[in-house]
Amino acid sequence: MTSKQMQRLLDEIESEYRFTCTMTGKKSLDPKVKTALSNVPRDKFVPKDLTDLAFYNGPLAIGYGQTISQPYIVALMTDLLELEADHTVLEIGTGSGYQAAILSQLCKQVYSIEYLPELAEIARDRLQKLGFNNVETKAGNGYEGWPEHAPYDGIIVTAAATHIPQALIEQLKPGGRLVIPVGEPYLHQELELVEKTEDGEINIKEVLGVSFVPFRGEHE
Ligand code: SAH
Repeated sequence: MTSKQMQRLLDEIESEYRFTCTMTGKKSLDPKVKTALSNVPRDKFVPKDLTDLAFYNGPLAIGYGQTISQPYIVALMTDLLELEADHTVLEIGTGSGYQAAILSQLCKQVYSIEYLPELAEIARDRLQKLGFNNVETKAGNGYEGWPEHAPYDGIIVTAAATHIPQALIEQLKPGGRLVIPVGEPYLHQELELVEKTEDGEINIKEVLGVSFVPFRGEHE
């Protein structure tokens, strides 16, 4: 059963979808993404003192200078990946593990990389305890992707990059989709949707102006 708080959040996401549809091309939330959002308890992914704000449609601080993204943005980025049940997805920027948990509801396997070892450990424990068994995490620099499990049907980057890392394009399957915020760290980025065609051609679309915490580490 969907709680009142969750229903209100889903309504807010739907309303933001309508508001931004001329830019995103998405008029309404995919029902499968909606179910995934309903199934993942966001209150378990935020620090205890922020539990009361867990169903507010905004980003929240999760410590170490990082944030759990705004639910509307989580919904939109997930939606843009157009996941199928047999897909494998790579996430760069595990953070709280919330986005990974949402993805895990819609595909076969999620791999997620977090730069900060402390956050990586907290997210791994949390995902395990909550029973999200098809998510594998590791601490490391997502700039190089995770070649051992490549290629991926979908790749999602949840930190602001100055450009699209070449390794991620290489690790994307033909027919696959990559969603990434590209632009000035701390300022404005464009959420970009990168599609690799069946014959390996790369098409890039700008979807929406966004603001993410910066991509860290080696970033040529
Ligand atoms: N997806 C997260 C939100 C992440 S905030 C969630 O659902 O909670 C962005 C995260 O990306 C931060 O935790 C940050 O440490 C991480 N990050 C930044 N640069 C990175 C890199 N090069 N490789 C992997 N993770 C990175």
